[in-house]
Amino acid sequence: MIQVTHLTKTYGSVQALDDVSFSLEAGEIVGLLGPNGAGKTTTIKILTGYLQPDAGEVTIDGLDVLAQPQAVQQRLGYLPESAPLYPELSVQRYLRMMADLRGIPATDQLDAISEAVYATNLTEHLARPIGELSKGYRQRVGLAQAILHKPKLLILDEPTIGLDPTQILDIRRLIKRLARNSTILFSTHILSEVEALCDRVIMLLNGQVKADARVADLAATADAILVLQSEVRGLEKTLHALSGVRGLEPMRSADGFPAYRVLGTPELDLCPAIYALARTQSWPVRELRRDVKTLESVFNSLVTPA
Ligand code: ATP
Repeated sequence: MIQVTHLTKTYGSVQALDDVSFSLEAGEIVGLLGPNGAGKTTTIKILTGYLQPDAGEVTIDGLDVLAQPQAVQQRLGYLPESAPLYPELSVQRYLRMMADLRGIPATDQLDAISEAVYATNLTEHLARPIGELSKGYRQRVGLAQAILHKPKLLILDEPTIGLDPTQILDIRRLIKRLARNSTILFSTHILSEVEALCDRVIMLLNGQVKADARVADLAATADAILVLQSEVRGLEKTLHALSGVRGLEPMRSADGFPAYRVLGTPELDLCPAIYALARTQSWPVRELRRDVKTLESVFNSLVTPA
């Protein structure tokens, strides 16, 4: 659905993007994660045709964003970081104006608006001036305009920025719902947002892609955590016989049971083999699971490499 290849962008002496490449498959919901200044907005502006890169290419649904801007705009819904809403207009008038701008025929506009306000739960607010709405509801109006023409792809720049916790949950639920019909790429600097919403995360730092992986894969480690009811003699030696086991580290166990980290090898889930071994050895296993990292620790290790 999106193919980004070797994007570069500088603003004067600031290198905002440095050889950025990634792709999105149809149906995915992907988070573009990075701290302030990482290059998220610049990437999104280039993807949506609002900014030209110095070098590199973007295709959306097979169409070149620079060469075929109108065809791309038909497939694309975009929520900018600060949506240009008109405070004096009612929600309905604003959406009509956006439907005109989108080139939706007058005869189809009422249906398009009804569906968009239904999807964003704005039906009861149609007559209200946008300036009187809370920030969360204004963000819904921004999302409603983005989906008016039923785009295949939604690109959202920091959709929950500046919202309170209830509004954030609301908008996240809404994004999940919209993901049923569209591929979604959204930018954020909030890790929990990525964990809550995404299949995949692309981590940007200083204009470069530092990680591009499924959230579950980023979090997975090669190690297994084994907690026993009671100590077992010769545990380390027996485990070492298993292929892929590199060692055993005792861990602090909160509830007083002996706990260990079984050090493994990347790409190999040790748990099935440990489980089978534990059965043959009649070990009193209390818990056995693959160790996971938090996205926060992954991100911190990228921001401040050892
Ligand atoms: P934020 O989360 O703060 O919005 P971001 O990840 O979206 O950050 P960008 O806005 O893309 O990052 O900015 C990337 C870099 O380019 C930053 O160093 C920023 O200061 C710089 N930059 C962005 N826009 C301009 C501009 N119009 N002129 C000069 N420098 C710019």
